[in-house]
Amino acid sequence: MTKSKIDGLHSVSARRSRRGLVRSDPRCILVVEDHDDTRLMLRTILEMNGFSVLEAIDGETAVQTAEKEYPDIILMDLGLPTVDGFGAMRRIREHSAIGETPIIFLSGWAEPAAQRAALAAGCNDYLVKPIDFDRMMSVIERWLSPNAGSMAAQQESLNEV
Ligand code: CA
Repeated sequence: MTKSKIDGLHSVSARRSRRGLVRSDPRCILVVEDHDDTRLMLRTILEMNGFSVLEAIDGETAVQTAEKEYPDIILMDLGLPTVDGFGAMRRIREHSAIGETPIIFLSGWAEPAAQRAALAAGCNDYLVKPIDFDRMMSVIERWLSPNAGSMAAQQESLNEV
């Protein structure tokens, strides 16, 4: 992680959340991952980048935590106990208060068809494991930026092609 990248991540001191409230840093990220070592690594990297981190180890807990804590963004493994990543995302998307939370899937499936299916199902972005952390941070920052809404629209129009 370069210094300029870290400075960039701290440059937004307050922003308008998707619920229209001005929230202050640190931004909150929900990490949904059942593999202990991977979850710890994600937490460590994200905290180094100034995020506060919530954890869930299965899909059911992920939905409950999102409903309660309103994370700014969710990093979600696809293969999870109880409810998988797709199921958890569906339930979050149906929820009026948290339905628009950016969700980034993490998956070992690198096939373009798997990625297209995930985007069509409603995730905002898709990262292939093993995770490239520089890329992960730039994807997170992109979805937290003030113009992420118009980028979502762009992505939706791409999906329709
Ligand atoms: Ca997993």
